[in-house]
Amino acid sequence: MGKASSERSGSESMSRCSVCGREFPEGELVRCSECGRPYCRGCAGKDPSMRALGICSDCEEAHGAEEFLDEEL
Ligand SMILES: [Zn+2]
Ligand SMILES: [Zn+2]
Repeated sequence: MGKASSERSGSESMSRCSVCGREFPEGELVRCSECGRPYCRGCAGKDPSMRALGICSDCEEAHGAEEFLDEEL
């Protein structure tokens, strides 16, 4: 085994929010159940499709559920 793996160096593994680009611990992120794109809670809360369906707006469009977005106001 010549592999230099350093697991658990103290902090939780961090992932980058795909919207705002900031890093968050894995447990703080919500992932699109279709493509797995990470959203922080703040960005997920601003995305109506993430909030309601748990999928990102790209996947939501692919599903053809656009009518849902009419409910903005
Ligand atoms: Zn974010
Ligand atoms: Zn997605």
